[in-house]
Amino acid sequence: MPIFSNNALLRGADNVLRQSHRLFTSSNIVTSASRPALTQFRDILNTQITNIKDAGTYKMERIITSSQSTEISVEGTHKRILNFCANNYLGLANNPEVVNYSKDLLDKYGAGLSSVRFICGTQSIHKELEKKIAQFHGREDAILYASCFDANAGIFEAILTPDDAVFSDELNHASIIDGIRLCKAQKQRYKHRDMDDLEKQLQSSSARLKLIVTDGVFSMDGNIAPLPKIIDLAGKYDALVFIDECHATGFFGATGRGTEEYYNLLGRVDIINSTLGKALGGAAGGYTTGPKELIKLLRQKSRPYLFSNSLPPPVVATGIKVLEMLMDSDQLSQRVQSNTKRFRDAMNKAGFIIAGENHPICPVMLGDARLASIFADQLLSRGIYVIGFSYPVVPKGKARIRVQISAAHTTDDIDHAVAAFIDVGKSLKVIKD
Ligand code: PLP
Repeated sequence: MPIFSNNALLRGADNVLRQSHRLFTSSNIVTSASRPALTQFRDILNTQITNIKDAGTYKMERIITSSQSTEISVEGTHKRILNFCANNYLGLANNPEVVNYSKDLLDKYGAGLSSVRFICGTQSIHKELEKKIAQFHGREDAILYASCFDANAGIFEAILTPDDAVFSDELNHASIIDGIRLCKAQKQRYKHRDMDDLEKQLQSSSARLKLIVTDGVFSMDGNIAPLPKIIDLAGKYDALVFIDECHATGFFGATGRGTEEYYNLLGRVDIINSTLGKALGGAAGGYTTGPKELIKLLRQKSRPYLFSNSLPPPVVATGIKVLEMLMDSDQLSQRVQSNTKRFRDAMNKAGFIIAGENHPICPVMLGDARLASIFADQLLSRGIYVIGFSYPVVPKGKARIRVQISAAHTTDDIDHAVAAFIDVGKSLKVIKD
């Protein structure tokens, strides 16, 4: 027998709502007038916000009202919008097979674990996903995190001591920079992709462990770490190699195994960190994969793993299903590669400067921050959704529109985007009439 009837439950919920509204009445909300520190705080923040706006670098967030896809609905527009700015490289973010599997595991395993992994937050599916990740990369083991940001934040402090040294490319992702800040190793930064500079620094180091750290693909420029030379230097100076493969896993290299595969160097990197939040279904989650002793130690010492909630089952399901699909067929990675070539070739021919190398990140270089923002707005009014990037995300004077190609784009989508770029490019005098 139920203790409460449905009506009683509804009345109860109603009361809770009324009470919570009553909690915040005008008499008990602390206003700035009664708190000078709060007034000063708001002033300081507002000054910074105004400065960012004055510099033309204030980032607005457009609101999507559909699922993530190549074709989306955006609040405030009524048109069909073609999306060219997601990290949805394989178009799997709303793939029905992936979504259905995610629903199945939601039903079977629940919404979440309400726990960290080592207390009572490890389900069989977490172990299954870790096994699949290691298998996909051909590594001994893998460990999951809530994000790759966490994986990067948690690794260096856990494995490096003051006797060790870390050599990091100056343009590595913010999460690597933050992760390195947290560790006590000797910190060396080498010039972006400059192997002479890296060699000089390795030569003069007498550290116990030397760890070279680089993004596999640099997301702002779409350019690639010189991995063959890095591996040579690691051999010569007895160093280890770590790469962040967020913009490579699943789609870069012939079968999507990433930067190692792109250079025909499969298995040569010691540690790989990557994300489930981009090509691999786009939900969330990150991981480290590598030697089993490393993974064992991270489970004991890595703070974002130890002190943060387990990945929710529907998210785990997404990773499992996508990895199964990718280990079955390389059709999607082939498709994103041919789409990329089509876009880059047509844009170069039209006179645009596209940075990067053969990668679906295609930065259309414009220089001026305001121009990039106006250009992006005009493209949106033509149904193409892209974002202008400017300082501090990229160096001053190097503003750009970062176009990202997906396997899910049709050739018509690509041609339509190129035509819109040409149209706007001519009207804003970026390319010749
Ligand atoms: N590393 C790189 C190179 C990235 O581009 C990103 C995401 O933008 C991250 C790490 C963080 O990944 P996640 O979104 O899983 O935290």
